[in-house]
Amino acid sequence: MYQDKTLTCRDCGLDFTFSASEQEFYAEKGFTNEPGRCPECRAARKQQRDGFSRGGNRAPRVMYPATCAACGVETEVPFRPSGDRPVYCRDCFSANRSVRF
Ligand SMILES: [Zn+2]
Ligand SMILES: [Zn+2]
Repeated sequence: MYQDKTLTCRDCGLDFTFSASEQEFYAEKGFTNEPGRCPECRAARKQQRDGFSRGGNRAPRVMYPATCAACGVETEVPFRPSGDRPVYCRDCFSANRSVRF
């Protein structure tokens, strides 16, 4: 009762097949819309969404590259290193704090 259909992806503009079995699946699920995107773009979007949900809805913090003054490891800090104060990586920072410099 269903026939393969060729649709055009709205993201990449490529034609893709909306197969008879997919149409059946959509109908079973009660979806009335045809897919607007090819399987690759759908997968890409899903991955993006999953990535966002893992990171929460917070705006990404701007991080500045810095070198730890104690151990020399490359790190990132949430402020612009001014140069007149030493910058520590997370490990050294918490270590320093625990011994109360
Ligand atoms: Zn596409
Ligand atoms: Zn360090």
